[in-house]
Amino acid sequence: MEKKNSLEKKYESAWEKYSETEFKKVFSLSSRYIKFISQCKTERQCVNELVKEAEKKGYVDLNSIIKDGKTLKAGDKVYAVNRDKNLVLYLIGEDPMEKGFSILGAHIDSPRLDLKQNPLYEDTDLALFKTHYYGGIKKYQWVTVPLSIIGVVVKKTGEVVNINIGEDETDPVFCVTDLLVHLSQDQMQKTMAKGIEGEALNVLVGSIPVKDKKEKERVKANILKLINEKYDITEEDFVSAELEVVPAGKAREYGLDRSMVIGYGQDDRVCAYTSFEAMMEITKSKKTLITVLVDKEEIGSVGATGMHSRFFENATAEVMEAAGQYSELKLRRAFANSKMLSSDVSAAYDPNYPSVNEKRNQCYFGKGVVFNKYTGSRGKSGSSDADAEFVAEVRAIMDKHKVSWQTSELGKIDQGGGGTIAYILAQYGMEVIDCGVAILSMHSPFEIASKADIYETKNAYVAFLKEA
Ligand code: MN
Ligand code: MN
Repeated sequence: MEKKNSLEKKYESAWEKYSETEFKKVFSLSSRYIKFISQCKTERQCVNELVKEAEKKGYVDLNSIIKDGKTLKAGDKVYAVNRDKNLVLYLIGEDPMEKGFSILGAHIDSPRLDLKQNPLYEDTDLALFKTHYYGGIKKYQWVTVPLSIIGVVVKKTGEVVNINIGEDETDPVFCVTDLLVHLSQDQMQKTMAKGIEGEALNVLVGSIPVKDKKEKERVKANILKLINEKYDITEEDFVSAELEVVPAGKAREYGLDRSMVIGYGQDDRVCAYTSFEAMMEITKSKKTLITVLVDKEEIGSVGATGMHSRFFENATAEVMEAAGQYSELKLRRAFANSKMLSSDVSAAYDPNYPSVNEKRNQCYFGKGVVFNKYTGSRGKSGSSDADAEFVAEVRAIMDKHKVSWQTSELGKIDQGGGGTIAYILAQYGMEVIDCGVAILSMHSPFEIASKADIYETKNAYVAFLKEA
């Protein structure tokens, strides 16, 4: 009987295995993580903060290496920043780079409401901002929750004005109003997709008119006056701005046993942060190690800061050049010989919605880092399917390092699905597998993750960087 049992795979809760010391490590990692996602709600904030931390660990700006004509050797640490919205970190290894890199990748953009180019208007003595939502959201989740406005306004002079209103406890906050239930007879008959329309996601920002009665829209005029006083910007400056409306306030511990984390933007900052910590932990390597954190995943990885951009390839070419190892062919070989954990969050099994999941191929809270051999939807369409050989290698590494892991698909076959950045890197011919942290209420203003999974995921990255 005992022999038969050992043939079966049981996915057990990671909580079962922790000693008291390890239990403490689970909680201390999550408190660092809570601090990070509380402070970093936009791509720019993430890049800014992580660059600071990386520099403390001895990482040097790639631009300064190029400018000073310095050479890179094994053990050197460099980073490259793209438009303040992408970050790539390199730890130079002893082996020739054409033998391949070990790469961690994740994205640092999250669903939100972006201000439109002409956002400010007045209606019935109220001032509001027009928004255009970013990424896939269930619109009804974004009304009546306190919101902050974070981002930049760039003036014609090129001066960048940083805006962050709503995060300090003394700041005002904002919100999108919803219709009172008493008058919702018609609204309540609509589908959830239509109940709140995209064009109705207008953020209420003011209600006091300026004294000057000659002004036509006096509340709007007052808002313009206030922001001009504080930031020295005018209405036209909104045209060259990136202002993100995000849930206000800090991430928190969650649950009576404090076993979880609730907060905005865990997709995919939970993977970005743990990848970053893993990368920082390693100081020496045979292979060159890379962590790449990208923007625009939520809208298709497009544009100059998305994974489809050549930025990553170009930065890597510069690193190879500085290490005296560059040629077009060697760069191609390096990528083709690379191995990558492409990290993004997975949909955890939710006992409130059992019907959308297939229980045997689903991920669960507390069972560790999630591997998705393939993502995609309805017939694996659009998925990057990792080779069985690579999956075998990865699970062997996880078992060797006693990392709790599980495997998952995104829900039932015909229910929906999703994509990540994996397929983009796979185009170089490298080995890529999707992995990450299971999340509840994904893409909502307040997502939930398990502290044990966050811990196991970080350990998975460390193991991968050491062994792959
Ligand atoms: Mn994601
Ligand atoms: Mn997402």
